[in-house]
Amino acid sequence: MSEPVQRVLGPVALDYTVHAGSVTGAFLEALLDKRLVGRRCPSCAKVFLPPRGACPTCAVPMPEAVEVGQRGVVTTFSVIRIPFDGQVLTPPYAAAHIVLDGADTPLLHIVGECDVDTVRMGMRVEAVWADPIEPTLASVRYFRPTGEPDVAWDAFKEHLG
Ligand SMILES: [Zn+2]
Repeated sequence: MSEPVQRVLGPVALDYTVHAGSVTGAFLEALLDKRLVGRRCPSCAKVFLPPRGACPTCAVPMPEAVEVGQRGVVTTFSVIRIPFDGQVLTPPYAAAHIVLDGADTPLLHIVGECDVDTVRMGMRVEAVWADPIEPTLASVRYFRPTGEPDVAWDAFKEHLG
């Protein structure tokens, strides 16, 4: 008796072009200048980073671009220790939600230049840029600890979502 086939691995190549649109396009262009630019909702005043074209709560367009800081706080995180197909990074590594200074929503990114077991909620981190810069979020290689004191839970709990 043989085992049932559960998956088949095979090479696949797809050529395609992605049009980012005006909001994401502006975000990606700003990365070329090492700037992180979100959008502010004219109704609730929240700054979304990554930017969105419309506020998901107020359902209104967000035309105002707002540059946010390069430093922020880890609001939650996960340490990836298990390898999987197509994985770009070598485990273990820490993926974190980071709310940058001046933003209200978390950016999902990697925390680097530290032992993954030291990553924690409230940790202050800063962007480390790749060289060369390209119009992708991978131009931020990762966020590293700043050494600043941790931020208390009460100061960022409203930014978890
Ligand atoms: Zn809003």
